Amino acid sequence: MHTGALPDTEVLAGRARTALERCGVTRLPESLGAPGQARTPITGGTLFPVEFDTPASAERAVAEVHGSFTSAWRDTPAPVRGQLVHRLGELLREHKADLAELVTLEAGKIRSEALGEVQEMIDVCDFAVGLSRQLYGRTMPSERPGHRLMETWHPLGVVGVITAFNFPVAVWSWNTCVALVCGDTVVWKPSELTPLTALGCHGLLMRAAADVGAPADVHRVVLGGAEVGDVLVNDERVALVSATGSTAMGRAVAPKVAARMGRYLLELGGNNAAVVAPSADLDLVVRGSVFSAAGTAGQRCTTLRRLIVHEDVVDQVVERVVDGYQQLRERIGDPYEEATLVGPLVGERGHTAMREALEQARADGGDVLVGGERRLEKDAEDAYYVEPAVVRMPAQTEVVRTETFAPILYVLTYRTLEEAVELHNGVPQGLSSAIFTQDQAEAERFLSAAGSDCGIVNVNIGTSGAEIGGAFGGEKDTGGGRESGSDSWKAYMRRATNTVNYGGELPLAQGVRFL
Ligand code: NAD
Repeated sequence: MHTGALPDTEVLAGRARTALERCGVTRLPESLGAPGQARTPITGGTLFPVEFDTPASAERAVAEVHGSFTSAWRDTPAPVRGQLVHRLGELLREHKADLAELVTLEAGKIRSEALGEVQEMIDVCDFAVGLSRQLYGRTMPSERPGHRLMETWHPLGVVGVITAFNFPVAVWSWNTCVALVCGDTVVWKPSELTPLTALGCHGLLMRAAADVGAPADVHRVVLGGAEVGDVLVNDERVALVSATGSTAMGRAVAPKVAARMGRYLLELGGNNAAVVAPSADLDLVVRGSVFSAAGTAGQRCTTLRRLIVHEDVVDQVVERVVDGYQQLRERIGDPYEEATLVGPLVGERGHTAMREALEQARADGGDVLVGGERRLEKDAEDAYYVEPAVVRMPAQTEVVRTETFAPILYVLTYRTLEEAVELHNGVPQGLSSAIFTQDQAEAERFLSAAGSDCGIVNVNIGTSGAEIGGAFGGEKDTGGGRESGSDSWKAYMRRATNTVNYGGELPLAQGVRFL
């Protein structure tokens, strides 16, 4: 293994304070009422205490952003709202390294992935600024003479954004940049595992607001766990709850928001697969699969978890993928080190889930071909570094159908494309999918209505690493929401249909006569 000793938690705490200060956070929240802490998965140690919100202080935050929605933001012209997001984009460019530092510290991402996540924020800022002049409504021909029929899009209200630990800044920006140009105000409940990245983002947004003269109350962060998120879920002033996390979280949140006739947008778990056809370019398969399956230590919602390989090429594919994994075994460790490709799991829960899943897979007749061992336990007993694992499975058993948020890649075999699609779609989740093939008809079948049932369907590229320009999200247990690019903005606005009579007479629709 290449890594030396892990850094000292005290040193990491110093790095966190410096990055926060550079983002404009000079004081941590005080007197919120609930003791909390910022920790780092790099050592498993506590960086420093951070006060968390109580339900009462979260409720006050909702009241404040609701006030700024009704008193100012919804009436601010959209291109002027865009200036706030434009300024945020400038600050993100300036502080890319600082925010990436916090992402590495709290989520354990390797540097290039942490920087990539901040780049995604910058990209979405650019997208949202363009959008601020393109919130188009349609005009339709009216069936009545002297009438105009059209639709307009208006701001929705307060958006409650709840995010997961694994994309601690990008998911916030997908929601918040789009919501702000749409005229909404935002309360953000980040993962309790990543409070510092949230404070860093909020610090930069507040600087942007001061620079362009926008109200500070367009955005608030509330820190804490499910009980704080629950305030956003239940408060009628929160018009849209956009929640990213596990399917279990979505199942708890959705009925509560629905019961008060609120809107929700859910981005939940995935169980992503790639089909490898006999004609596939195996170089692409190996590179695409190893990155998709082991990148971010298997902790992406789009992580490749199943490789469904044609029987003619399965032995070759397995040999080459396992070879790639052997190389990864030398590159597990401190995510700050240049050579590291696999950082830590965020915590013990992921490690326990991985261990149990591997045990179950073995019991189901699976063969663990590589990986699965814990690393660096002696250096830091509370840090969870693992070797990414490849498991060849005789069938798609229950453990394969379950999202285990850790780096396990299950390999399954197929004979016909129909069988591959059936295996592919035979899981509860529907986020990201891919086919590797040189056969155009086969690729088209996979992309067609009878092919993959996911929200993201790729050809000759892995399942992870989406661009912000497309709508992001998935079907079935993944929750059905769409965020980021394309026309996802419509979820953050309300539509009004307008009929204008300029003809001086009042013909009724459908030829109805009355009086
Ligand atoms: P999690 O479900 O434990 O927590 C996610 C967020 O929801 C946290 O902020 C948490 O505090 C909050 N929360 C949990 N229960 C809640 C409740 N009852 N009411 C209100 N808020 C509640 O998820 P995690 O471990 O942080 O993240 C990993 C999961 O997120 C994986 O399943 C992954 O696939 C999924 N994820 C999905 C996407 C996507 O876009 N589809 C993106 C990232 C992560």
